[in-house]
Amino acid sequence: MISFNKPPFVGTEFQNIQQAIDNLKICGDGAFTKQCSEWIEQRFDARRALLTTSGTSALELAAALCHLEPGDEVILPSFTFSSTATAFVGQRARLKFIDIRPDTMNMDENLIEAAITPKTKVIVPVHYAGVSCEMDTIMQIARDHGLRVVEDAAQGVMSSYHGQALGTFGDFGCFSFHETKNYSMGEGGALLIRDEEPIEDAEILREKGTNRARFFRGQVDKYTWVDWGSSFLPSDMLAAYLWAQLEVADKINDDRLASWQGYHDAFADLAEKGRVELPTIPEGCAHNAHMFYLKLRDLEDRTAFIAHMRERGVQCVFHYVPLHSAPAGLKFGEFVGEDRYTTSESDRLVRLPMYYGLTREDRETVIAAALEYLERS
Ligand SMILES: *Cc1c(COP(=O)(O)O)cnc(C)c1O
Repeated sequence: MISFNKPPFVGTEFQNIQQAIDNLKICGDGAFTKQCSEWIEQRFDARRALLTTSGTSALELAAALCHLEPGDEVILPSFTFSSTATAFVGQRARLKFIDIRPDTMNMDENLIEAAITPKTKVIVPVHYAGVSCEMDTIMQIARDHGLRVVEDAAQGVMSSYHGQALGTFGDFGCFSFHETKNYSMGEGGALLIRDEEPIEDAEILREKGTNRARFFRGQVDKYTWVDWGSSFLPSDMLAAYLWAQLEVADKINDDRLASWQGYHDAFADLAEKGRVELPTIPEGCAHNAHMFYLKLRDLEDRTAFIAHMRERGVQCVFHYVPLHSAPAGLKFGEFVGEDRYTTSESDRLVRLPMYYGLTREDRETVIAAALEYLERS
C-alpha cells in the first residue's frame, strides 16, 4: 500500500535526541528549542518565534493574545481544520464563516468586508495546502477596520507571498509540526509574533503565567507568577527531532516540490480536457508542496476514485467537512453570505500521497492508477 502520508525523517534525529539527553535538558526551552526558534526567526524574518506543543496550541496562544470579550466576532473560512475555530471558541468568541475561492480553496478576500460588524475583532486567513491567501487585500482590510490578523499557517511553513514568509504578515502566525506536516516533531508547532508589544505577554502565557523568560534573560532577579497561563513548551527531545529537519529544510522542500510537479505534469492533459481540476498557484505565491489534490466531478466521482485507488494499493483521502455544518460549528457560529463553493468544492476534492521521500516509482504507480480511472470514466 502506498500510504497517503509518511512522517518526515531525515536520519539525524536520533543523534540529536541523544544530544538532548546528554545535555541533561529534556524539558522545554533547552538548546534545541533555542536553535529551532532562532532558525525560524532568521529564515522567515520573524520578530519572535516560540515553539509550542502543537499548531492548535499556537492558535490558542494567538487567540488569547487577541484579548477578546465574550461575543466578539472572528471571521474565518469554514473549509478548515477544527483547531482554527476551536482556539477562538476557547476565548468565547463567535465564529463568522465566509465562503472560499474555488481556485485556491482559501477564504475569499472579497467577502470579508460584508461580514464585518461592530463586534468583529479578528480575521483568520488559513493558507490551504501551503498556498497563500491574498494577504495584501486582507492586511489592508484589517488596517482599515482596526482588526487583528491571526494567520493559520499550519500548512504554510516555507511558503511565501510576494517574497514574504507566510506566518509573518498577521499580528500572529501559527505553524504546525504535526507528523502530517512538511516539518515535524510528532506533535508541535510555533507561534510567530510580528510586533514587540505582545511578546512579553506571550512568554508569560506560554510559561504557566510566570515571567520566567525575563528571569532567564537576567531582566528580573527572581521569577514569579504574574498572570493566567498554561504550559505550551514542547520537550527539547522533540525540538531535537525537528532540528534535524530544519537543518535540511530546502532539501525537504525541493523533494516535495518535485513530487508535486510530477503529479501536476501527469494530469495536465486531463485538466485541459476538463476531466479534473488541478490546484492553482496564484501569481506571487511560492508554495511548499504541502499537498497535491485533484478536484473531480462530484462526491460520487470522488468516492469511486478513492475506492479504485485503494484497490490499486494507493491510499487517497478527502479533506475537511465544512465546519459551519458540524455540530460545534452550528453551536458557536454561522455562515455569512452564500455557501457557493465551500460545500460543493470540498465534496469533490481528493488528496494524493505526498510526503518527503516519495519515490519516483511510487509516484508513477499513483499516477498510473489515477489515469486508469480518469481516462475510462
Ligand atoms: C494541522 C493543522 C492545524 C493543527 O495543527 P496541530 O499541530 O495538529 O495541532 C491547524 N490548522 C490547520 C489548517 C492545519 O492543517
